[in-house]
Amino acid sequence: MGRRLLILGPPGAGKGTQAQVLCRALGIPHVSTGAMLREHVEAGTDLGRLAKEVMDTGDLVSDAIVVAMVAERLAREDASCGWLLDGFPRNASQARALDEILGDRGIDSVVMVDVPEDEIVARVLARGRSDDTAETTRTRLAVYREQTAPLVELYEQRGLVRRVDGVGEIPAVLCRIVEVLAE
Ligand code: ADP
Repeated sequence: MGRRLLILGPPGAGKGTQAQVLCRALGIPHVSTGAMLREHVEAGTDLGRLAKEVMDTGDLVSDAIVVAMVAERLAREDASCGWLLDGFPRNASQARALDEILGDRGIDSVVMVDVPEDEIVARVLARGRSDDTAETTRTRLAVYREQTAPLVELYEQRGLVRRVDGVGEIPAVLCRIVEVLAE
């Protein structure tokens, strides 16, 4: 099994939780653009202030910012044996940028976590992060549908997509992910 992984799915699909456990088990870094952006917000950097405004509306932070963050992160020593990208790429231009960053040796597998929309809204509202209002959740879902979901097709054409049912207990979903990755 290759260790250059990407996890895709709607906001609130539980990607972050699954990704964290999976990365610990595989010994690879969890590269989450959402988490990196939130670290900047916490630290009160200029980038953090800029990003927070956008994140609180549910829209995407600019491609230039997230692409630079990912490029820098993947170039670090601990990413040389693999990584799991979570929350990136989120649109076609980020997917192209990722292809450029990776060069010849691309992605090994794309895990697609499927969760129906009504379940997502309920989960996100229960989570209670500062960008988790009903309004921003709707925006995030629309952004996902319009910009991120089409990437599944792109990676499907490359034969990389492994679909997983994201409904159920966290350990059950994790088992499904481990199984599809072992196939
Ligand atoms: P969720 O899984 O709930 O969508 P994330 O932690 O992945 O949460 O992202 C939270 C917010 O951070 C997004 O709504 C967006 O504003 C910003 N963000 C995260 N990743 C990206 C990205 N790749 N491109 C642009 N904005 C991003």
